[in-house]
Amino acid sequence: MDEDQRDSDIAGATVIPADARREESPGVVDAAGSYLRVTDDEFRSRIRIAYQRLEHCDLCPRHCGARRLRAETGYCGAALRPRVFVANLHRGEEPPVSGTRGSGTVFLSGCNLNCCYCQNYPLSQLHHGTEMSTPSLASALVDLQARGAHNINFVTPSHQVPQILAALFLARRLGLHIPVVYNTSSYDELSSLNLLDGIVDIYLADLRYTDEDVARQFSGVGNYVNTAEKALVEMHQQVGDIQTDATGCYIPRGLIVRYLILPRHAAMASDVFAFVAQHLSRDTTVSVMTQYFPAYRAVDPILGIGRKVTEHEFDRVMQAWSQSGLSRGWVQDMSEEGGA
Ligand code: SF4
Repeated sequence: MDEDQRDSDIAGATVIPADARREESPGVVDAAGSYLRVTDDEFRSRIRIAYQRLEHCDLCPRHCGARRLRAETGYCGAALRPRVFVANLHRGEEPPVSGTRGSGTVFLSGCNLNCCYCQNYPLSQLHHGTEMSTPSLASALVDLQARGAHNINFVTPSHQVPQILAALFLARRLGLHIPVVYNTSSYDELSSLNLLDGIVDIYLADLRYTDEDVARQFSGVGNYVNTAEKALVEMHQQVGDIQTDATGCYIPRGLIVRYLILPRHAAMASDVFAFVAQHLSRDTTVSVMTQYFPAYRAVDPILGIGRKVTEHEFDRVMQAWSQSGLSRGWVQDMSEEGGA
């Protein structure tokens, strides 16, 4: 996403066209990351528990049992060391994340989903990237902070929780103090999310589907909806809703739910919004994304998603929004493109 093409606000129960209204980001409060309050002993304990789970890996809901401590690679493509595609400032995330200076985004290689339309498939599915030691990853985080990043934003992090905890622990000793964003598909194990409680400040989390058959067909997983909904409830309990201070600046703590409109499946929007309103909070911030294009395997005609989202599908999603009771969020400009 391009900052200059940033989102229109979704306002109240009114259907807002994608290009109807833009506002300058009001900025982000420069708050300290929550992990600064975690004691060394507690941090070490969580790192130890997280790495133990790599013995027969059950870190994510795949539970594929890969022996990652012995460098065996799991379904996600990850072994022991973190593999990073790129670490850079990113100005195209949602306003509380990108702020005015950009988000310190770390694109991790590999993924525990196998989405046929993944726009980041060179890193998620083909595992492009560079293997890093934990100290080098910690240094990269501190470097992002020195470049002005508002936060450290781990993209596709679910299969790298131990490595993330270890890198944050080391980086904290090197002076890292900015908040942490966990940018996830929400196909997360609750016990892994528990290890992040008090360490992650912002959850930037997808709710991709509300139909398990669609999830199975497009992402190769049979329990996405049930798993993601439980994960979102846990994330919301940990960090609550995004808030602003008295001047309107975003406080860097809270949950943002992302919903990517898929062609021919815009009907799921009403269930996505209903889940958020009923099981999270009517004050939850939602980011509606229209950037879909048929990447990776999505060009296969049998899948039926080999085109972009139409204006009619977009209007249908906005109608669902107007009836949802939700009132906070953004909708992406139809002309924007995504990917790493
Ligand atoms: S994180 Fe990777 S290795 Fe571990 S259970 Fe999930 S898919 Fe398997």
